[in-house]
Amino acid sequence: SVARKLLVGGNWKSHGSLKFVKNFANDTLNKIVYDTSKVEIVIAPVSIHLKDAQEHIANNIHISAQNSSAFEDGAYTGEISASQLANFGIGWTILGHSERRHILGESNTFVASKVKIADEYGLNTIACIGETLDQREAGDTIKVCTDQLDAIRAQVDDWSRIVIAYEPVWAIGTGKTATSEQAQEVHEQIRAWLNENISEEAANNTRILYGGSVNAGNADELIQNPDIDGFLVGGASLKPEFESIVKACN
Ligand code: PEP
Repeated sequence: SVARKLLVGGNWKSHGSLKFVKNFANDTLNKIVYDTSKVEIVIAPVSIHLKDAQEHIANNIHISAQNSSAFEDGAYTGEISASQLANFGIGWTILGHSERRHILGESNTFVASKVKIADEYGLNTIACIGETLDQREAGDTIKVCTDQLDAIRAQVDDWSRIVIAYEPVWAIGTGKTATSEQAQEVHEQIRAWLNENISEEAANNTRILYGGSVNAGNADELIQNPDIDGFLVGGASLKPEFESIVKACN
Protein backbone atom coordinates (compact mmCIF):
# COMPACT_ATOMS: atom_id res chain seq x y z
CA SER A 1 0.00 0.00 0.00
CA VAL A 2 3.06 2.34 0.38
CA ALA A 3 1.65 5.73 1.42
CA ARG A 4 -1.97 5.09 0.59
CA LYS A 5 -4.48 5.25 3.42
CA LEU A 6 -6.10 1.85 3.75
CA LEU A 7 -9.86 1.49 3.58
CA VAL A 8 -12.14 -1.15 5.01
CA GLY A 9 -15.69 -1.10 3.69
CA GLY A 10 -18.62 -2.98 5.15
CA ASN A 11 -21.29 -3.81 2.59
CA TRP A 12 -24.35 -4.81 4.57
CA LYS A 13 -26.32 -5.62 1.40
CA SER A 14 -30.04 -6.13 2.04
CA HIS A 15 -29.43 -7.29 5.61
CA GLY A 16 -30.28 -5.86 8.99
CA SER A 17 -33.00 -4.05 10.87
CA LEU A 18 -33.06 -0.73 12.70
CA LYS A 19 -32.29 -2.61 15.89
CA PHE A 20 -29.26 -4.27 14.26
CA VAL A 21 -27.92 -0.88 13.11
CA LYS A 22 -28.11 0.52 16.62
CA ASN A 23 -26.74 -2.55 18.38
CA PHE A 24 -23.90 -3.21 15.93
CA ALA A 25 -22.90 0.46 16.12
CA ASN A 26 -22.77 0.43 19.89
CA ASP A 27 -21.44 -3.08 20.47
CA THR A 28 -18.87 -3.34 17.66
CA LEU A 29 -18.22 -0.41 15.32
CA ASN A 30 -17.95 2.38 17.85
CA LYS A 31 -15.56 0.33 19.97
CA ILE A 32 -13.00 -0.36 17.26
CA VAL A 33 -9.74 1.35 18.20
CA TYR A 34 -7.69 2.18 15.10
CA ASP A 35 -5.49 4.92 13.73
CA THR A 36 -7.73 7.15 11.57
CA SER A 37 -4.63 8.53 9.83
CA LYS A 38 -3.88 5.05 8.49
CA VAL A 39 -7.28 3.45 7.94
CA GLU A 40 -10.73 4.64 6.91
CA ILE A 41 -13.88 2.68 7.64
CA VAL A 42 -16.91 3.01 5.36
CA ILE A 43 -20.18 1.28 6.28
CA ALA A 44 -22.99 0.79 3.77
CA PRO A 45 -26.42 -0.07 5.22
CA VAL A 46 -29.62 -0.25 3.16
CA SER A 47 -30.82 3.21 2.21
CA ILE A 48 -33.76 3.35 4.62
CA HIS A 49 -31.26 2.75 7.45
CA LEU A 50 -28.88 5.55 6.41
CA LYS A 51 -30.31 8.08 8.85
CA ASP A 52 -30.13 5.70 11.78
CA ALA A 53 -26.60 4.76 10.76
CA GLN A 54 -25.63 8.45 10.77
CA GLU A 55 -27.19 8.80 14.19
CA HIS A 56 -25.71 5.74 15.89
CA ILE A 57 -22.37 5.12 14.18
CA ALA A 58 -19.44 7.22 15.46
CA ASN A 59 -18.37 10.19 13.34
CA ASN A 60 -14.97 8.79 12.47
CA ILE A 61 -16.71 6.11 10.40
CA HIS A 62 -18.07 7.11 6.99
CA ILE A 63 -21.56 6.05 5.93
CA SER A 64 -22.15 4.96 2.34
CA ALA A 65 -25.08 4.15 0.10
CA GLN A 66 -24.99 0.77 -1.68
CA ASN A 67 -26.13 2.26 -4.97
CA SER A 68 -27.14 5.57 -6.48
CA SER A 69 -28.97 6.66 -9.59
CA ALA A 70 -27.52 7.05 -13.08
CA PHE A 71 -29.79 10.08 -13.44
CA GLU A 72 -30.46 13.47 -11.93
CA ASP A 73 -33.53 13.94 -9.70
CA GLY A 74 -36.65 13.25 -11.70
CA ALA A 75 -39.11 10.68 -12.95
CA TYR A 76 -37.09 7.57 -12.06
CA THR A 77 -39.30 5.60 -9.68
CA GLY A 78 -37.40 3.89 -6.91
CA GLU A 79 -34.07 5.61 -7.56
CA ILE A 80 -32.12 7.68 -5.06
CA SER A 81 -30.04 10.33 -6.79
CA ALA A 82 -26.46 11.32 -6.04
CA SER A 83 -27.73 14.83 -5.37
CA GLN A 84 -30.19 13.52 -2.76
CA LEU A 85 -27.44 11.50 -1.06
CA ALA A 86 -25.13 14.52 -0.94
CA ASN A 87 -27.99 16.64 0.40
CA PHE A 88 -28.56 14.00 3.11
CA GLY A 89 -24.92 14.24 4.20
CA ILE A 90 -23.88 10.92 2.67
CA GLY A 91 -20.41 11.19 1.16
CA TRP A 92 -20.01 7.72 -0.31
CA THR A 93 -21.67 5.28 -2.66
CA ILE A 94 -20.88 1.73 -3.81
CA LEU A 95 -21.40 1.30 -7.55
CA GLY A 96 -21.24 -1.68 -9.85
CA HIS A 97 -21.41 -4.32 -7.16
CA SER A 98 -21.50 -7.73 -8.84
CA GLU A 99 -24.97 -8.42 -7.42
CA ARG A 100 -26.23 -5.34 -9.25
CA ARG A 101 -24.34 -6.19 -12.43
CA HIS A 102 -25.35 -9.85 -12.50
CA ILE A 103 -28.69 -10.08 -10.68
CA LEU A 104 -30.08 -6.67 -11.62
CA GLY A 105 -28.52 -6.53 -15.08
CA GLU A 106 -26.49 -3.30 -14.82
CA SER A 107 -24.16 -2.89 -17.80
CA ASN A 108 -20.66 -1.44 -17.76
CA THR A 109 -21.98 1.76 -19.38
CA PHE A 110 -24.86 2.10 -16.94
CA VAL A 111 -22.53 1.66 -13.96
CA ALA A 112 -20.17 4.24 -15.47
CA SER A 113 -23.06 6.74 -15.79
CA LYS A 114 -23.68 6.29 -12.08
CA VAL A 115 -20.02 6.90 -11.27
CA LYS A 116 -20.05 10.04 -13.41
CA ILE A 117 -23.02 11.62 -11.69
CA ALA A 118 -21.86 10.55 -8.21
CA ASP A 119 -18.56 12.26 -8.95
CA GLU A 120 -20.32 15.40 -10.16
CA TYR A 121 -22.07 15.70 -6.79
CA GLY A 122 -18.83 15.16 -4.89
CA LEU A 123 -19.56 11.64 -3.68
CA ASN A 124 -16.71 9.21 -3.18
CA THR A 125 -17.36 6.02 -5.09
CA ILE A 126 -16.31 2.47 -4.37
CA ALA A 127 -16.42 1.14 -7.93
CA CYS A 128 -16.63 -2.65 -7.98
CA ILE A 129 -15.18 -4.75 -10.77
CA GLY A 130 -14.45 -8.43 -11.17
CA GLU A 131 -14.78 -11.54 -13.27
CA THR A 132 -17.03 -14.58 -13.01
CA LEU A 133 -15.58 -18.09 -12.68
CA ASP A 134 -16.23 -18.83 -16.37
CA GLN A 135 -14.42 -15.66 -17.36
CA ARG A 136 -11.45 -16.53 -15.13
CA GLU A 137 -11.26 -20.05 -16.53
CA ALA A 138 -11.37 -18.65 -20.06
CA GLY A 139 -8.35 -16.47 -19.22
CA ASP A 140 -10.37 -13.26 -19.49
CA THR A 141 -9.94 -11.88 -15.97
CA ILE A 142 -7.94 -8.79 -16.88
CA LYS A 143 -9.95 -8.05 -19.97
CA VAL A 144 -13.22 -8.16 -18.02
CA CYS A 145 -11.81 -5.88 -15.32
CA THR A 146 -10.26 -3.38 -17.73
CA ASP A 147 -13.45 -3.30 -19.85
CA GLN A 148 -15.32 -2.33 -16.68
CA LEU A 149 -12.70 0.33 -15.93
CA ASP A 150 -12.60 1.59 -19.53
CA ALA A 151 -16.36 2.21 -19.41
CA ILE A 152 -15.82 4.43 -16.36
CA ARG A 153 -12.85 6.18 -17.97
CA ALA A 154 -15.03 7.02 -20.98
CA GLN A 155 -17.26 9.12 -18.70
CA VAL A 156 -15.11 10.24 -15.78
CA ASP A 157 -11.91 12.32 -15.91
CA ASP A 158 -11.27 12.93 -12.24
CA TRP A 159 -10.38 9.69 -10.46
CA SER A 160 -9.44 11.31 -7.15
CA ARG A 161 -12.71 10.29 -5.47
CA ILE A 162 -12.79 6.78 -6.88
CA VAL A 163 -11.80 3.71 -4.89
CA ILE A 164 -11.67 0.49 -6.90
CA ALA A 165 -12.86 -2.76 -5.34
CA TYR A 166 -11.63 -5.87 -7.13
CA GLU A 167 -14.18 -8.53 -6.26
CA PRO A 168 -13.96 -11.79 -8.19
CA VAL A 169 -17.59 -12.87 -8.49
CA TRP A 170 -16.72 -16.47 -7.66
CA ALA A 171 -15.33 -15.35 -4.31
CA ILE A 172 -18.30 -13.28 -3.15
CA GLY A 173 -20.40 -14.88 -0.46
CA THR A 174 -19.01 -18.29 -1.37
CA GLY A 175 -16.38 -18.73 1.34
CA LYS A 176 -13.84 -19.07 -1.50
CA THR A 177 -11.26 -16.33 -1.21
CA ALA A 178 -8.83 -15.53 -3.99
CA THR A 179 -5.38 -16.57 -2.83
CA SER A 180 -3.09 -13.79 -1.82
CA GLU A 181 -1.14 -14.31 -5.08
CA GLN A 182 -4.28 -14.32 -7.28
CA ALA A 183 -5.50 -11.10 -5.69
CA GLN A 184 -2.13 -9.32 -5.87
CA GLU A 185 -1.68 -10.33 -9.51
CA VAL A 186 -4.94 -8.65 -10.54
CA HIS A 187 -4.39 -5.62 -8.28
CA GLU A 188 -0.99 -5.05 -9.84
CA GLN A 189 -2.52 -5.15 -13.32
CA ILE A 190 -5.29 -2.75 -12.31
CA ARG A 191 -2.62 -0.34 -11.03
CA ALA A 192 -0.74 -0.69 -14.31
CA TRP A 193 -4.00 0.11 -16.15
CA LEU A 194 -4.38 3.26 -14.02
CA ASN A 195 -0.83 4.29 -14.85
CA GLU A 196 -1.33 3.82 -18.59
CA ASN A 197 -4.88 5.08 -18.92
CA ILE A 198 -5.47 7.67 -16.21
CA SER A 199 -2.21 9.03 -14.78
CA GLU A 200 0.81 8.15 -12.72
CA GLU A 201 -0.77 10.11 -9.89
CA ALA A 202 -3.94 8.02 -10.09
CA ALA A 203 -1.85 4.85 -10.09
CA ASN A 204 -0.01 5.99 -6.97
CA ASN A 205 -3.01 7.32 -5.08
CA THR A 206 -6.01 5.16 -5.98
CA ARG A 207 -6.95 2.62 -3.35
CA ILE A 208 -7.61 -0.84 -4.76
CA LEU A 209 -9.61 -2.94 -2.31
CA TYR A 210 -9.99 -6.70 -2.42
CA GLY A 211 -13.40 -8.21 -1.79
CA GLY A 212 -14.66 -11.78 -1.71
CA SER A 213 -15.05 -13.78 1.48
CA VAL A 214 -12.62 -11.65 3.48
CA ASN A 215 -12.67 -12.63 7.12
CA ALA A 216 -10.64 -12.44 10.31
CA GLY A 217 -8.63 -15.45 9.20
CA ASN A 218 -7.43 -14.28 5.78
CA ALA A 219 -7.22 -10.47 6.12
CA ASP A 220 -3.73 -10.49 7.66
CA GLU A 221 -2.17 -12.31 4.74
CA LEU A 222 -4.03 -10.47 1.99
CA ILE A 223 -3.11 -7.03 3.35
CA GLN A 224 0.63 -7.81 3.14
CA ASN A 225 0.45 -7.41 -0.64
CA PRO A 226 1.81 -4.11 -1.99
CA ASP A 227 -1.21 -3.41 -4.22
CA ILE A 228 -3.98 -4.37 -1.79
CA ASP A 229 -5.11 -1.22 -0.01
CA GLY A 230 -7.91 -2.61 2.11
CA PHE A 231 -11.07 -4.62 1.76
CA LEU A 232 -14.71 -4.54 0.83
CA VAL A 233 -16.35 -6.95 3.22
CA GLY A 234 -19.83 -8.45 2.93
CA GLY A 235 -20.78 -11.23 5.32
CA ALA A 236 -18.06 -10.58 7.91
CA SER A 237 -19.00 -6.88 8.13
CA LEU A 238 -22.19 -7.90 9.94
CA LYS A 239 -20.26 -9.76 12.62
CA PRO A 240 -17.95 -8.79 15.50
CA GLU A 241 -15.01 -10.19 13.49
CA PHE A 242 -15.19 -7.01 11.38
CA GLU A 243 -13.04 -5.48 14.12
CA SER A 244 -10.24 -7.98 13.43
CA ILE A 245 -10.32 -7.12 9.73
CA VAL A 246 -9.86 -3.43 10.55
CA LYS A 247 -7.09 -4.35 12.99
CA ALA A 248 -5.32 -6.33 10.27
CA CYS A 249 -5.04 -3.07 8.34
CA ASN A 250 -3.89 -0.94 11.24
C1 PEP B 1 -19.29 -8.08 -1.14
O1 PEP B 1 -20.48 -8.27 -1.27
O2 PEP B 1 -18.79 -7.01 -1.49
C2 PEP B 1 -18.49 -9.17 -0.56
C3 PEP B 1 -17.21 -9.16 -0.74
O3 PEP B 1 -19.17 -10.15 0.12
P1 PEP B 1 -18.53 -11.33 1.04
O4 PEP B 1 -17.48 -10.68 1.89
O5 PEP B 1 -19.69 -11.84 1.84
O6 PEP B 1 -17.96 -12.33 0.09
